Amino acid sequence: CLAPDLVAIQPGLTTTDNTRPGGSEPAPMKIAILTIGDELLNGDLADTNTAAIARRLFTESLPVQEAATTGDREADIAAALQRLAASHDAVVVTGGLGPTEDDRTAKAAAVACKRPLVLNDRALQQIRERFRSMQRRMHPANEKQAMLPGRSTVIANRNGTAPGFHLRHHEAELFFLPGVPREMLAMLDEYVVPLLLERFPDPPLLCQQTITVLGLPEPEVEARIISASLPAGVELAFNVELPAVRVKLRTRGKDARKLLDRAEVIVRRALGEHIVCLGDETLVEATVRHLKSAGFSLSLAESCTGGLIAKLLTDQAGASSFLERSVVTYANSAKIDCLHVPADIIEQHGAVSAACAVAMARGVKTASRTDIGLAVTGIAGPDGGTDDKPVGTVFMAINGPYGERVERFLFPGNRDQVRMRTACIALDWLRRQAMQRIASVAQEE
Ligand code: ATP
Ligand code: MG
Repeated sequence: CLAPDLVAIQPGLTTTDNTRPGGSEPAPMKIAILTIGDELLNGDLADTNTAAIARRLFTESLPVQEAATTGDREADIAAALQRLAASHDAVVVTGGLGPTEDDRTAKAAAVACKRPLVLNDRALQQIRERFRSMQRRMHPANEKQAMLPGRSTVIANRNGTAPGFHLRHHEAELFFLPGVPREMLAMLDEYVVPLLLERFPDPPLLCQQTITVLGLPEPEVEARIISASLPAGVELAFNVELPAVRVKLRTRGKDARKLLDRAEVIVRRALGEHIVCLGDETLVEATVRHLKSAGFSLSLAESCTGGLIAKLLTDQAGASSFLERSVVTYANSAKIDCLHVPADIIEQHGAVSAACAVAMARGVKTASRTDIGLAVTGIAGPDGGTDDKPVGTVFMAINGPYGERVERFLFPGNRDQVRMRTACIALDWLRRQAMQRIASVAQEE
């Protein structure tokens, strides 16, 4: 049977349902992305536009075939455009539409498509209007942004001054969008996606489900899934976001949705309680969601994580509905003063010990009068390890409505990784306590 903690989780399919009854599948549209900017090539800027565009198009069953990046040189941009336009049905281009000299995309597009660069009245009108609405004087340099290849269609930009443009070169649709992610994404949604779906109305359905797993190494996750035998036609992919493993199931074609549902049931059986969330949800989001619906109040006593567990929880809106406090008790004196950990526990067992973790959890729970107290104490490294307690040794304790529990871990990795692994296991403990409460309330009803 399914792991009980999955009952309340909605499957987060990331596709629209455009299955067509019968008939043969049309060939998938070939789409490329081209991002432009020297700073993308010299390491100053991470290219998040490619991932954002690819993700958005994927949800419309429009998979991207190729992604490329060029610097700001006009000849390089023109060459990349010609190459991608010759082998794809559509190319989505971002960057280089600004008013400065290093913004050369429109010029390069004109060269690539062998068209003149002309002043586009509509684009100029939109730029002027934008400045008027911001009550700012338009700099003459902004007029350059209205110089577009002949016969371009202007793509309105509600969030910035640079208009985008669209043109057809031979058989390819070319879309030019600004580099600024917020502007680019709005224009992708409002113009590019509808136009692509109009041109290719029934792309073969593409479905994906992500299943996030904690507490099993990647090879073990794969082995369990393979021995459970997925139906033919399901693609399996993994990526590790320490310490979680994200399993991706992908299907395509007219039976994609049914096939994916069957595969998901099989994987859920194979991985059981190690599954922490589905779809785009993260471990911390799932934990917060469950803590809120369980109605628990929580306090934390953190040593080696230095407040990381509280940071992750409070990154989520509404954490105040369950988190009463988190105290960072780093020194022994802090553990004694703030949490009333008996000094002889620290003397006899050390601050990194099961006894100390238990006392910390009790201490913070008592002081805050919350339903749950959770504590962590450990050695994140690189120094401080001993034969007995090497770097990566962490003790975690929880004291709550289901009693007291303490566990010793030995986490691999560097300081950051040890701290992150500790925080994630703590979140998982909290998530499980909340799930238990939710399940018992449901049973009573
Ligand atoms: P602007 O009018 O701001 O000059 P633009 O269309 O010319 O817009 P760029 O100059 O290429 O765009 O980039 C502007 C800003 O947008 C960059 O400084 C960066 O912050 C962001 N940006 C550009 N390209 C990307 C990308 N591929 N991924 C993430 N952010 C990007
Ligand atoms: Mg620019």
